[in-house]
Amino acid sequence: MRKPIIVGNWKMNKTIAETVDFIKAVDPVCHDGATYGIGAPFLALAEAVKNASNLIVAAENCHFEDSGAFTGEVSVPMLEEIGVKYCIIGHSERRQMFGDSDESVNKKAKRLIAAGITPIVCIGESEAQYDAGETESVIRSQLSGSLADLCPNCVKNIVIAYEPIWAIGTGKSATKEDAQKCCHIVRDQVEQMFGKEAADCVRIQYGGSVKPENIVEYMACEDIDGALIGGASLKADSFTDIINKTK
Ligand code: PGA
Repeated sequence: MRKPIIVGNWKMNKTIAETVDFIKAVDPVCHDGATYGIGAPFLALAEAVKNASNLIVAAENCHFEDSGAFTGEVSVPMLEEIGVKYCIIGHSERRQMFGDSDESVNKKAKRLIAAGITPIVCIGESEAQYDAGETESVIRSQLSGSLADLCPNCVKNIVIAYEPIWAIGTGKSATKEDAQKCCHIVRDQVEQMFGKEAADCVRIQYGGSVKPENIVEYMACEDIDGALIGGASLKADSFTDIINKTK
């Protein structure tokens, strides 16, 4: 039985004070129906960890090296020190704007797993790839690169977020049928790479314009075990709505 996981991806939003206010409002509303969490900017992570008792706290990126001449980067031991337990990696914005690749995502995943931090590995096709009918091959190839050589037992515990790029921040969400179909392809690819047990256990999120109005229909899909939510996770009211609708 997979426990659903619903995580807000705040991107470059919220100061430390705003983070604490959000957590004070939303943490008490969380319930056992799912794991709920927030992906917050690096600066707000330490306070987020201190203030959250129910919400899990995720970083939005990390570097795969432990230390060195990587100006502006944050390493996994630094996240470990402040008690961060999840980390989003390979988000399409990072792939498009900051040079993240399947290869670097793979290195980050391995380093996080070694530290006992759960990676939330993001994949998803662009609008051009969708229009060209390449969605399935893009999903399979991103997964084979990003998850290469992980141990099957480790894969059981990771989270994969399938996010079609054309649906991110556009209000143009995938139909529940398309989202289910793609999340099923994700699970099938995990099975091909790591076997049935890993595929049965791995949690797969859909992301892309998820909001209180459509969360329930996605969560009813067999292969969708949660959501990665950008815009609708920024306001305490709307995230609370999502939490209340997924009891
Ligand atoms: P969105 O973002 O919910 O605003 O579409 C999702 C994401 O980028 O993870």
